[in-house]
Amino acid sequence: MKKHLNPSAEPITEDDTFIAEALKDVNTAALIMSVVHMTGDTSFLKGPIRPKNTDVVSAGSDDQASYGEGGFTREEMDAVRAQALEVIQGYRERGCTLPKLDESAVKEMFNYMSGRELDEEYLAFIKEEIALDGVDHRGLVLEDPALKARAANFPVVVIGAGMGGILAGIRLDEAGIPYTVIEKNPGVGGTWFENKYPGCRVDVPGHSYSYSFEPNHQWHNHFPLTNEIREYYERCARDYGVEQKIRFNTEVTSAVFDEACQSWNVEVVGKDGEREVLQARAVISAVGQLNRPKMPDIPGLETFRGELVHSGAWPDSCRHEGKRVAVIGSGASAFQIIPEVARTVDQLKVFQRSPAWMFPNPGYHSAVGEGQKWALEKLPFYSKWYRFWLFYSTVEGVYDKTLVDDNWESPLSVSAGNDELRKALTAWIESQVDDPELLSKVLPKYPPFGKRILQDNGSYLGALQQDNVDLITTGIREIVPEGVVTQDGELHEVDLIVCATGFHADRFLFPMKIVGRNGIELAEQWEGDNGRAYLGITVPNFPNLFCIYGPNTNLVVAGSIAHNAESQMNYILRCLRILLENDYHILDCRQEVHDAYNERVDEINAGTAWGSPQVHNWYKNGAGRVTANLPFRILDYWRMTKQPNAEDYRFE
Ligand code: NAP
Repeated sequence: MKKHLNPSAEPITEDDTFIAEALKDVNTAALIMSVVHMTGDTSFLKGPIRPKNTDVVSAGSDDQASYGEGGFTREEMDAVRAQALEVIQGYRERGCTLPKLDESAVKEMFNYMSGRELDEEYLAFIKEEIALDGVDHRGLVLEDPALKARAANFPVVVIGAGMGGILAGIRLDEAGIPYTVIEKNPGVGGTWFENKYPGCRVDVPGHSYSYSFEPNHQWHNHFPLTNEIREYYERCARDYGVEQKIRFNTEVTSAVFDEACQSWNVEVVGKDGEREVLQARAVISAVGQLNRPKMPDIPGLETFRGELVHSGAWPDSCRHEGKRVAVIGSGASAFQIIPEVARTVDQLKVFQRSPAWMFPNPGYHSAVGEGQKWALEKLPFYSKWYRFWLFYSTVEGVYDKTLVDDNWESPLSVSAGNDELRKALTAWIESQVDDPELLSKVLPKYPPFGKRILQDNGSYLGALQQDNVDLITTGIREIVPEGVVTQDGELHEVDLIVCATGFHADRFLFPMKIVGRNGIELAEQWEGDNGRAYLGITVPNFPNLFCIYGPNTNLVVAGSIAHNAESQMNYILRCLRILLENDYHILDCRQEVHDAYNERVDEINAGTAWGSPQVHNWYKNGAGRVTANLPFRILDYWRMTKQPNAEDYRFE
């Protein structure tokens, strides 16, 4: 069933010229690691050539002509390649056999890559994430026949066939637990099925935005386009047999806990309106946080005579070419749409309420080189170390810059580290804009990390400076049949309005009606927009209901959401194992455990840039509480979700 876990790469058969050319595309630090695997010799790691920066923030600020990824100089990279070529020749000549590396050598390698001494816990966490040993530790395989029999009688309904739902299916299948996935769309992929606006791509590297147990060595782009990601999930669903368990074009309207049967009655509605109730011993909601497009509350929107679309529901039939187009919003979606449509529209008017911070990332739109793909397939352990590199560089070095220093007084930053970053990001924006008026409009006046920081290769500000593009910061008064009227009374006539105005992110599991014990409705318990869960996964009064990407699990800076989904599914499986092993029917999270956890969540979130009072963003609910984001370090969350504590639950 699993295909890619074996870490030994394909044999190398290519000639020296091919290899030398391929090495020009590869990540230097990961190449050095592969060299150590091929030689068994760690002496290189003690030499002067070593990564100088290992976080995305400082990496982006490097002078790209002089330095490569990780701050290696061009001369250092040439030296590493030359040495690697010799090592690869030897490895090929001896039939691609590898010496054995002992544990201390592996530890030395991690320390070299990260640039610091990693403690044992971090090592355990990162080894599990990259599965260096080729063993997937996050699944659950039940060996005991009695347990297997109980598992076979424990049907689960999974809601959603996006990244989380497909993962749930794969893991339940391994555990021998029967399941059905209910998916409202006609295909898999979730957000990557729905978001097809021009320019749509993930802003996390594809090599880490994928399941740890199913790497894709063939990503076409470093930051893959939406179709490519959708295809990845289609392939996973097909190859792991999840596809046949998905009911497409079907929505869950309600899920009601039946106390007498201690199971869930899940009502689903098919495409033609036919209703059916499925009985499940557990329900896993994997509906995501960003799947219900939010139209702006602007008077007269419905009177517009032209075409009105939302970025998250872009119709296949929508054509922007040659038209006069308005884009409302300047968040992550607008940031990708604007450079793409600006190239072919007649006129583009961008209505911005607040500008975005952006990380310099010259490679944001780059294709993955053929040499890199070759290395991922063929160089021993290279793909593992490359994933570690991406993971580590997007997790570390950043978190501290998000935390508020209570003694720091500025509306523009929350600490000295945050301010240092603000200055670097300001310099990046300034380097692209000469016009002082435009510059004052595009420079954010809130701290970095107050909203999502976007990946930038210059195309966004470049587009805003095209002759056919106007950036309008005067507020919108109303929409009229002809277009958009701003507060100054000016009418901006357009043919197409694109609302890149975000999602109903604070209404978790919306619009499903979920009814738990004693008739309690989840929406009521959550007061509409105040979602809370223990670890973002379980909710008191809702036994055997589990969430993937539930309340307070979104990552602002730290790594890939795919990693978090795996942590959550790992936890859910281990909850199910407790039920099966003890022949319990249900588990229900203890209210006091849930409350204490949420107090900590709120306290830490309130001390972050995204939780600070001077920013408004989609992470907060109407009352200003951050309901979307995980406030912890990713290592801490991994530890918290590794194994459930039975004392946190009531079992029946
Ligand atoms: P968003 O970040 O919430 O941005 C919405 C934009 O619309 C903001 O600029 C907002 O202004 C503006 N807006 C909202 N209502 C408005 C109104 N009534 N009038 C004028 N402007 C209005 O939504 P999004 O861009 O769809 O992104 C949401 C999240 O999805 C992202 O943070 C990210 O997590 C994810 N995403 C990821 C990717 C990717 O991986 N590449 C791409 C797209 C989205 P204010 O900022 O002033 O509120």
